[in-house]
Amino acid sequence: MIKPTAAEELLQSLGISKPGDICLEAIALYCNARIKIEPLDGCEARIIGNHQKAIITVAEGKLYERQRFSIGHELGHWRYHKGRSFVCRSDDIGNEEKERSINDPEKVADDYAVDLLMPRYLFEPEAERLKTASFETIRSLSKLFKTSITATALRYVDLSPIPSMLVCHGQNGLIWFKKGRDVSNRLFLKSELDPDSFALDVLYGKGEQTRPRKIGADAWFDNLGADRYEIFEDTMRIYDSRILTFLSWRDEEMLEKYNT
Ligand SMILES: [Zn+2]
Repeated sequence: MIKPTAAEELLQSLGISKPGDICLEAIALYCNARIKIEPLDGCEARIIGNHQKAIITVAEGKLYERQRFSIGHELGHWRYHKGRSFVCRSDDIGNEEKERSINDPEKVADDYAVDLLMPRYLFEPEAERLKTASFETIRSLSKLFKTSITATALRYVDLSPIPSMLVCHGQNGLIWFKKGRDVSNRLFLKSELDPDSFALDVLYGKGEQTRPRKIGADAWFDNLGADRYEIFEDTMRIYDSRILTFLSWRDEEMLEKYNT
C-alpha cells in the first residue's frame, strides 16, 4: 500500500470520496487561505501570507482548469513554504519543459497540485475503469477531475495500469516526453517525427486529433529490432503548433525485451 501524500491525506481527512467533491475554495478556507481571481501583471498566481493566514490570487481570463491547477500550486506553497510569499509565472506552474530538482519549490508546489486535484485513491480506479490509453479516455478523466488535458494525460501515464508514454512535439521536433512506470529507459525515442506516424499529419494541420491506431514501433523508437513490434499511437493538437501523442502497449513483449 502506497502511503498517501500530504494533499491526499488532507482530502481524506475532509471525507472527500469522489472527484466532484474536490472544492478548492472550501479546502483553502479550511487551511486558512482565501482565493481571489483578479487581473495580475507579470505572473499567473501568487500567495501572500504570514504563518497563520494567506491570500492566494490567481490571474483571471485563464482557462478554468488552469486556474484550478494554479490554486492547487499555491496551496502547495502554503503547505510546504509557510511564511514565504511567492509570485509564480506561467512557466513556474505545471512546466514539463524545464528540468527541475525534486526540491525546487515550484516542483514541490506542482506535485502538491497534482495530488490535490487528481489524488491517487480517486484517479487510479477511474483510470482502470477506462481501458484504452487514448485522448478519449483523457477527455473523460479531465471532465471528471476538472483538470487540463495535459495535466490529466501526465497523471494517467503515471497511474494507469496500461503501459504508456506521452510525447510532446512542436514544429522544431521533440519538446518533452514522459514515460510510464513500466516503460524502460532503454527505449530511445526518435528526435524527429517519422513520416509514417499519424502524428505528423496532425502537426502539419491535417485534423485536430486521431484515434488510437497501430503502428510499427520503429516509427517512434531508434532501438535495433524495434520494427518487430507494434504499438498504439493517438495524437491531438494542444496549441496551434504543438501536439501531444500517447504511445501505448497492449502486450508486454517489447517492454520485456528492452528491459533486459
Ligand atoms: Zn509557485
